[in-house]
Amino acid sequence: MAKVSGEVMAEGTNRVIGRDAMRINIAIGYAVANIIKTTLGPKGMDKMLVSELGDIVITNDGATILEEMNVDHPAAKLMVEIAKTQDKEVGDGTTTAVVIAGNLLKKAGDLLDQSIHPTTIIKGYEIASKKADVLLETFSKDVKPTDTEILNKIALVSMGSKGIGSDDEKKKIAQMVVKAISQVATAGKGKNGGFEVDSDFIKIEKKAGGEVIDTELISGVLVDKEIVNSSMPKNIPNAKIALLDAALEIEKTETDAKIEITSPDQLDAYLQQEEKMLKTMVDKVKLSGATILFCQKGIDDIAQAHLAKEGIAAVRRVKKSDMEKLARATGAKVVSSVSELSSKDLGLAGLVEEKKVSGEAMVFVRNCKDPKSVTIFVRGGTDHVASEVERAIKDAIGSVGSAVESGKYVTGGGSIEMSLAAALNEYAVEIGGREQLAIQAFAESIESIPRTLAENAGMDSIDAIVALRNKHKGGKGTTFGVNVFKGEISDMEALGVLEPAKVKKQAISSATETTRLILRIDDIIASRGGRGGGMPPGGPGGAEMGGDY
Ligand code: ADP
Ligand code: MG
Repeated sequence: MAKVSGEVMAEGTNRVIGRDAMRINIAIGYAVANIIKTTLGPKGMDKMLVSELGDIVITNDGATILEEMNVDHPAAKLMVEIAKTQDKEVGDGTTTAVVIAGNLLKKAGDLLDQSIHPTTIIKGYEIASKKADVLLETFSKDVKPTDTEILNKIALVSMGSKGIGSDDEKKKIAQMVVKAISQVATAGKGKNGGFEVDSDFIKIEKKAGGEVIDTELISGVLVDKEIVNSSMPKNIPNAKIALLDAALEIEKTETDAKIEITSPDQLDAYLQQEEKMLKTMVDKVKLSGATILFCQKGIDDIAQAHLAKEGIAAVRRVKKSDMEKLARATGAKVVSSVSELSSKDLGLAGLVEEKKVSGEAMVFVRNCKDPKSVTIFVRGGTDHVASEVERAIKDAIGSVGSAVESGKYVTGGGSIEMSLAAALNEYAVEIGGREQLAIQAFAESIESIPRTLAENAGMDSIDAIVALRNKHKGGKGTTFGVNVFKGEISDMEALGVLEPAKVKKQAISSATETTRLILRIDDIIASRGGRGGGMPPGGPGGAEMGGDY
């Protein structure tokens, strides 16, 4: 075998076959999970990550940690993928997913030791994962966008482990996120006629400075631009908003089309003509009744002067994405030629104002009526603080958003995992055979969540699991989990530790999926340079290249 491969493959190719390959992948997957498990839960610790260039990130966010770690081994990369998928699909529960996957791998290793074939393990895991889905459904409860109390709790729990300051700050931010989600949620558009939450329309704008408590929800859009001309109004109550995606300029003549100007009179006439055209454009804006114009392209100086004279404010070179958000927030229509602009294209905002924030002018479009697009303006003493607040907000948006979309929530603190594990153990006995062992291993892997929460809270994790197993005996589902603050077992419903069902569902399914992928590998063939070793030292762009491997 080795001889054949030696002939087929290029010199220097590294190859690991069969159980050895599997053992390596299992060990590495478990190692990755072990690195980040200390961050799980409100009592989890933060990690400080230092890049090759010396940039520092301090975070508790599983996805961020794994991304910044720049792992090298293919199996480790698969683990990182779990976090990425989880982040993309539901926006929270990344650490949970990776920790479960790591434990599924480790338990698979134990089963391999008992001479159970990988296909049997995979089959058992798949049966268990399917069953877990069904069970999750039966253990979850309904939630609507108007259930603000439940949603506030879900938001708080998802931000829980981020070190972003006081309880009051967290509460305020949680409420902001829930309000923001309820603004952008559309009824009847989601799966099964439920709600659809397009979180792209919750704009997060971050600026270091101020304090976390200054973070605010703007019922409208914050545009990181200034009012283009200093003699324009800077404070416009009851603003009538025009959105234009064309330039307020005269198109410059093509380079090869020459204009013959032979006398000063002709030049004058030409310039007058240009000014007249710009004036006509501005008149159009005025005629529409607009009091502020957001232009995606440029605005000529002369046009600016005319606008200012008419008391109309203007912002130029607004990003396309911001134009869409402005349209959704104010009800304005984006018009692609100023000649088409009419009063019915205008949007409304209670107030548009330019304000200096940490020395930089920004335009706040506020107090829109029932805006379908809102902004959370993140503040924090330093960039590190503001960034961690931003990550916390993103987690909360993901969490509350998926709760609203799927309309289901469960209790956290490891309680739902204990319920699932207990019910799966009952189920394993029904299935019997060798798969039974794999299903039991699956159940134990899910228990890694309450176990880790207890560990991170400084509790005796064995005692905690035993106590929880007693509470969950029979597998009918109870809401008892780990009270990480008191170091005891308590009712998570009463404590308000609530989480969206979808986060758990996604975590379990992507962990199972990746475990299956890794367990099916019985051959690692690595070409030389295929593991990062072949990068030219210090070559240009080397730092960015690292991520692409
Ligand atoms: P993840 O990246 O998986 O979301 P977190 O660090 O956010 O990881 O931790 C989430 C876990 O912490 C969940 O199992 C959740 O139920 C638990 N948790 C959050 N808040 C509490 C709390 N107040 N008491 C107990 N468990 C909590
Ligand atoms: Mg979380």
